[in-house]
Amino acid sequence: MKVRIRIETEFGWGERRGHDISILERSLTEASAEELGLSLAEGKIILREIQRAVLQDQVEEITEIERVCQTCQTYLPIHDHRSRRIDTLFGRVTVQAPRVRICMCRFPGFPECTTAFSPLTRVLPGQATPEFCKLQADLAARHSFREAARLLNALTPCARQNHTTIRNRLASVADGLETRSDDIQEGVEVQSGGPEMTVFLDSAYVRSRPEYQKRNFEVIVGSIESKTAKKHRFGLSLAGVDHPLDCLKSSLKAAGWRPGSAMTVLSDGDPALPRLVRNAINGNVEHILDWWHISARIRHVETTFQTLLSQLDNSETCDVEALVERLRWRIWHGQTHRALEALRILFRFAIKARDCAAGETQEAALSVAGRTMDLQTYLTHNLSALVNYGHRRKQGKAVSTSRAEGLVNEIANVRMGKKQRMRWSPRGAHRVATVRAAVLDGRLLTRGPNAA
Ligand SMILES: [Zn+2]
Repeated sequence: MKVRIRIETEFGWGERRGHDISILERSLTEASAEELGLSLAEGKIILREIQRAVLQDQVEEITEIERVCQTCQTYLPIHDHRSRRIDTLFGRVTVQAPRVRICMCRFPGFPECTTAFSPLTRVLPGQATPEFCKLQADLAARHSFREAARLLNALTPCARQNHTTIRNRLASVADGLETRSDDIQEGVEVQSGGPEMTVFLDSAYVRSRPEYQKRNFEVIVGSIESKTAKKHRFGLSLAGVDHPLDCLKSSLKAAGWRPGSAMTVLSDGDPALPRLVRNAINGNVEHILDWWHISARIRHVETTFQTLLSQLDNSETCDVEALVERLRWRIWHGQTHRALEALRILFRFAIKARDCAAGETQEAALSVAGRTMDLQTYLTHNLSALVNYGHRRKQGKAVSTSRAEGLVNEIANVRMGKKQRMRWSPRGAHRVATVRAAVLDGRLLTRGPNAA
């Protein structure tokens, strides 16, 4: 049998035009499984031909509309035709794009003036359709550049992709995302007293390319949340951007921050992270030590103590057991000084146990001493960032960056972690992190279907 595929355009002014797209032939006598339905190759050809026809007709319609002068209603002449190459998801299409003379009513003194403009360039200034660019960037943020190119080549009729075209596209989309945040900055100035905001911050380490003279560099990941706006994630490589504070400020603004918003930062105790937010907004930031990180350290104390206690005579240990049991509760309820006092007692107990014992018990006592000291130092260094977590939780406020821990994986490690065995430049890592954050937020591929 023969299948003839033909499409028909109906222009806005009523004219109809047909395009022959393709003819499929199937064997009458020797039907095989491979010949059932459309093959991938046929599908690609059909899509590419439909794209070509639709684009060329669309250019014609856009041009006809632009040929009528908005001011004096003159029907303007075509100056010349130029070939324009357009990269789309469904193939690289070359269209004939007319340029229209600019109406003389705009230059009354210059009758000889023959400036022309291209209506197509007005609609599409770049060489590729936005949807195609975003899809390239989306795939590049999820897979290696080579894998992203392979997927596009395998599944779509787009022009041949390789790792360089994909990397360049990711770069331009990432830079575009940043300029867009800057627009917000200019556009929505400035009502004081915005919503209360919480920023979860953490950092990941990415392997550096050899020419940067160090093994790793830091990528900061974060999630900005408030009751009024959607969660906004971001990734930021301090070494990879010229103005990291501006970059962070743009993200905060895009998430709804306004001067005067109350700002809370949850992080794991690295003072550089809250300082970064403080400098970006040039205002006060409440820094809260993340409960998830404290909790992990308490658990270390608890488990090592269990091991030690199981090897000691019960009569001596009742008091310390009670102390360990109360430790977590005390820190959770903001009784930091009592918790620190308890840790000092536990430390002395562990040292005494080490001196009196031998072998396994001595080792267990040593590890208790180490864990206790570790927690004590951690709390002491972050005294100003400890709060009554129980009270905060009751108020429905965030106490933990466990979500930021997830972010480290989602934004940085999945694509740029050590397992990927890739090395990065700070700029490259910053761009991937920026696009990944946009992908996770659903900010990248937002175009809805326009079809009727
Ligand atoms: Zn005119």
